[in-house]
Amino acid sequence: MSVRRSLTILGATGSVGQSTIDLVCRNPDRFDIGALTANKNYRDLADIARKVGARHAVISQEQHYDALCALLADTDIEVSAGSHAVAEAACLPADIVVSAIVGFAGLRPTLAALECGRTVALANKESLVCAGELVMRTAKESGARILPVDSEHNAIAQVLDQNQLHAVEMITLTASGGPFWKKTYADMKSATPEEALNHPNWSMGARISIDSATMMNKGLELIEAHYLFAVQRHQINVLVHPQSVVHGLVQYVDGSLLAQLASPDMRIPIAHCLSLPDRISIPGQRLNLAQISSLEFAEPDLVRFPALRLALEVLERGQGASAVLNAADEIAVAAFLDKRLGFTAIADVVNRVLDDIERAGLLATPGCLKDAEMLDEAARRYAGEACAFMEI
Ligand code: NAD
Ligand code: MG
Repeated sequence: MSVRRSLTILGATGSVGQSTIDLVCRNPDRFDIGALTANKNYRDLADIARKVGARHAVISQEQHYDALCALLADTDIEVSAGSHAVAEAACLPADIVVSAIVGFAGLRPTLAALECGRTVALANKESLVCAGELVMRTAKESGARILPVDSEHNAIAQVLDQNQLHAVEMITLTASGGPFWKKTYADMKSATPEEALNHPNWSMGARISIDSATMMNKGLELIEAHYLFAVQRHQINVLVHPQSVVHGLVQYVDGSLLAQLASPDMRIPIAHCLSLPDRISIPGQRLNLAQISSLEFAEPDLVRFPALRLALEVLERGQGASAVLNAADEIAVAAFLDKRLGFTAIADVVNRVLDDIERAGLLATPGCLKDAEMLDEAARRYAGEACAFMEI
């Protein structure tokens, strides 16, 4: 007999949020929803809150507060608004807080949940990229647990023997290579947002889809793994695996290589986090290895995908640099989606902002949320200028 768990979902209207809601709806006897949050899509938030019988619905953009109240007026669902309300929702009693906001905006509520000692199922990799030292220290001090939702990190968590950490030689994250893995750099120069958003294996939000096309996503994931598993640069690598069947591997000193394999379906890692140490049934296709017949792997190409090279360099340059990398990338991806910046200029903007901020002497490791916010803001300002300079 399983215990019913209460969940708070930060970013409930997004791709990871929706996959989580799907699991909740399929397992009403296992999960109960406390708070749900969204940025501006108050209509979807109201629909989801009704469907799952949430106790709180929180909209980050305050101008939608009245409209959300009106949509939920005939229910007992408590409504609040503002980014402070999102952080407060993260602290409400819950067995697990699913942190699925995209971007730097996810850091504050993630930290708030950890400060309150909540178990956090972490999809918001940016929290670790921008303030991994602070995030891990906060969790340690409060005794909070962080469960990785990102499919590669979840795979690694599933095969990482906590009693044999000293015997780990290498952690490998696989990468699909994205929609442009077979394209030349010259082809990529003229890539459109529509082409870049068209991921071959995964259906995801806009930012992570573009980051997968530049392979910046894998770079962010290397940094995520560095903080999450406390491994050094020489102990983490990336292997391109276009089929997205093997998600993560751990190499031990005795030569054993342990891997987790699954269909590319985010409900699998999310379900793992939500039901630990139990497993819940997920419908859908099982892997048929005989049908797949062979699995392909290749070394990443750091020349055609300079974003990944920048992230590798940032691992050596420290936490401040990874926070700048993320902020510059967020701004450059938004400019690309807005058709103000070319696809290959995304990495150029990030490169330039890293150098400019380093020259300005601003690359210190953020010791608290305020530090992280100030660095993020400065990097966004520099990135805005760099985008304007490189505009198409
Ligand atoms: P998405 O764009 O589909 O959804 C983002 C969610 O965050 C939405 O609910 C949105 O309302 C909310 N949000 C956006 N900006 C906000 C703000 N300023 N304040 C408060 N809320 C805000 O994104 P996604 O693809 O679901 O990704 C969410 C996170 O999970 C990202 O960090 C991403 O890297 C990570 N992730 C996603 C996947 C995936 O398959 N989509 C896989 C692994 C990791
Ligand atoms: Mg991933």
